[in-house]
Amino acid sequence: MQKVLILTAGFGEGHNAAARNLREALELASDDVQVEVLDLLESAYGRLNTLVKNTYLKVLDHAPFVWNGIYGWLNSTTWPHPDGQVGLARLRQHLADVLRTTEPDCVVTTYPIYAPLIQQLFRDHQERPFRLISVVTDSITANALWWRAPSDLWIVSNEATAAVLRAGGVPADKVKALGFPVSPRFAELTGIEVLPPGPGSAKRILVIVNHNKKKAARTIDELLELPDTHLTVTCGRDAELKAKLAEQTRKVADRVRLLGWTNVMPRLLVDSHLVVTKAGGATVQEAIAARCPLILNHILPGQEEGNARLVTENGLGAVAQHRREIAGLVEDAFRHHGRRWNEWRENISAFARPDAAIRLAELVLDACASSDRPRKTLPLFGDGHDRSPLRPAQAVLAGEPKMLLCDFHTHTNYSDGKLSVPDLVDFYGRRGFDCLCVTDHLADPRRLLGKLVRLTNLTLAPSQLAEYFDVLERERKRAWRKYSMVLMAGIEFNKDGLTSKSSAHLLGIDLRSPIDAALDLPETIAQIHAQGGLAVASHPHVMKSEWGKNTLYLWENHEKFAPLIDAWEIANRNDLFTPIGHKRLRFIANSDFHKPKHIESWKTLLHCEKDPEAIKECIRENRHVAITLYRDDGSARAAVDTLRQPMPDFVRPGAPALLAARR
Ligand code: ZN
Ligand code: ZN
Repeated sequence: MQKVLILTAGFGEGHNAAARNLREALELASDDVQVEVLDLLESAYGRLNTLVKNTYLKVLDHAPFVWNGIYGWLNSTTWPHPDGQVGLARLRQHLADVLRTTEPDCVVTTYPIYAPLIQQLFRDHQERPFRLISVVTDSITANALWWRAPSDLWIVSNEATAAVLRAGGVPADKVKALGFPVSPRFAELTGIEVLPPGPGSAKRILVIVNHNKKKAARTIDELLELPDTHLTVTCGRDAELKAKLAEQTRKVADRVRLLGWTNVMPRLLVDSHLVVTKAGGATVQEAIAARCPLILNHILPGQEEGNARLVTENGLGAVAQHRREIAGLVEDAFRHHGRRWNEWRENISAFARPDAAIRLAELVLDACASSDRPRKTLPLFGDGHDRSPLRPAQAVLAGEPKMLLCDFHTHTNYSDGKLSVPDLVDFYGRRGFDCLCVTDHLADPRRLLGKLVRLTNLTLAPSQLAEYFDVLERERKRAWRKYSMVLMAGIEFNKDGLTSKSSAHLLGIDLRSPIDAALDLPETIAQIHAQGGLAVASHPHVMKSEWGKNTLYLWENHEKFAPLIDAWEIANRNDLFTPIGHKRLRFIANSDFHKPKHIESWKTLLHCEKDPEAIKECIRENRHVAITLYRDDGSARAAVDTLRQPMPDFVRPGAPALLAARR
C-alpha cells in the first residue's frame, strides 16, 4: 500500500482543482494507493484562514491593483525565511504532525508555501523519508516561491513555464512539462471530434458566467445577434441570474441552453467551438485540454495574467479588452470559412494534454516506489488489516449478512445541499457507511410552489436529470471501489401544496432513470416500483426542530398509501415520529443531509447482505431493521463493527487501550 499526501490551499481555483484531479487519476491508476488531499491552511488556522481567504477573494474582485502589489511582494521576498515567521509556526507544526501520523511515501504540493516549510522541518534531521513533488499551477508568471525550496521534481503546464523555472536555477532534469493536471475525464473524451463550423452550420459557444454578472445579460444578447449561434450558458449557483437570463432569452430558447451548477464541464468544453470565460487557472487549462479556443473577458493581475499570455502568445484564442468586443471577436473567428478559428484550433491541439493527470499519477507512483520510508509491518490490529484512518474498514464485502450503517435521504448541490456528489461520497465513505442514497429535490411543475422553487435553482432542473444520473453512476463505481460503499441514485419528489395537509415529499430510492416530475403520487410510486426502487414517505409527520413546512398529506391519507409505500421515515434528522410506530408501519430513519453538521442525526441499521437488492428487500420486509442516533465520534461505526465480528477478534479501530485489554 502506497501513501500519497496532496497538500493544497483554497486560494483560487487552480490549486484545489489540480489536487482533486491528481487524486482521481491516482485512484484510477492503482488499487494499492491511499490518497489524502489536505488544505493545511484551513485546518491550522480555521476561521482565521477563512477570513484571510475571503479578504483575498475580495481583494481579487474589487481591487486587483492591491493584489498586484501583494503578488509582487511574494515574488521578491525570501519569505518564508527559515528563521522566525511566528505567523507560520502553527502551520509548520501542523504539517509536522500530519507528516508524522500519515507517513506518506510521496508528498505532492499544489501550493508554493509547503515546500519551504518542509525544508525547515527537515533541515537538522536526516534526509526526509518521502519524495516531494511540486505541481506548479501558475503559467508563465510562476511565483519564485515555487522553487526557493528543493523538490525532487517540479511539474509544470508547458515549456514556457519550464523555461522560467530553469532560468530560476532549477536543474533541467527536475522539471517536467506534463500539462496542467485536468480531470482524467478529459482523456476519456479525446475521441470526440467537433466538426469545424461551416457556412450556415451552428457555432456552439460556451459562456461561463463567473464574474460581472450584471453585464453577462448584454453579452448574451449581443452573441445571439450573430447568425447561426447556439449558446450554452453556465451561471453557477446564482439562481436569480439564471431566472433573469431565462426570461430574457425566452423567445430564442431553441438557441440557448441555460445551466446552473454543472458536473459535466469537460463534456461542455469538448462539445463547444469557443468558450467565453475569465482567465481563471483551472478553466483556461481545461479549455486547452478540451482543444476549445478561448475568448477571455476578464483578467486579474498575477496568475491570471500568465494564463492570458499563454492564450495570446500562443494563438489559442483572444482577449477582449472591453465587454463590447466579445461578440466581434467571435464573429471574426468564424469569418472567411473560419480561418482564424481553424488556426486557434490547430495551435491549441498542439498544446492539449488531456491525460496530464494520468501521467502525473504515474510519476507519483514511481516516486512512491523509490521512497525511503522505512516499511513498518502493521501489527496494530488483531486481524492484520491496515485500518489506518486514511482508509475505512474494507473487510466487509458482499456475502453473508452483516449489520449495515445506512442513510437513504441526502442532498447535494444538484439541489439545495452544500456538497458535490463526489464530496458527499467521500464524506460518508470515510465514516465507514455501507449504503448511501442521494435524493436531490425534484419539484412538481404543476404545483404553485414547484414553479416558484424551480426559479430559485434549489431543485434539480428537468434538463439536468440525465447528467445527475450519469454522475451518480460514475460515483457508484468509485464508492464501491474506494469505500466498499453501496451508492444508490434517488430523487425526493416534492409535491408541495399551499397547506401542510396538501403537501407530500416522497423518496424514490435506487432509481435507474428519471421519472416525470408532474405525475401524481400513485403514478410516481408505480414508476418507482417499475424500476425496482423503493417508495418512502419522507418526514411524514409533524417536525419539531426544523424550519421547513410540514408535509402531512401522506400521513393524513396513510390508509390509502400504506399498501403502496415501502417504508415511512420514523425519524428524520433530529425528529422522531412516534405515530409511525403506533401504526406499526414499515420504517427507516434518515438524516435528510444538506450540510456536514447534519451527519449527527438518525440513521438506519440493516442486518443483511451488502448488496442493493438485499438492502431493498430488507426494508420491504422490514425485519432486522434498527435505527440509531448517529454521533460523529465513531461510536456508531464501532457498535456496528461489534455486531459484525465475533467478540474475541473484535478490535475497535484506533483504540490501543482496548486492544491491550483484549490481549
Ligand atoms: Zn423533504
Ligand atoms: Zn430532503
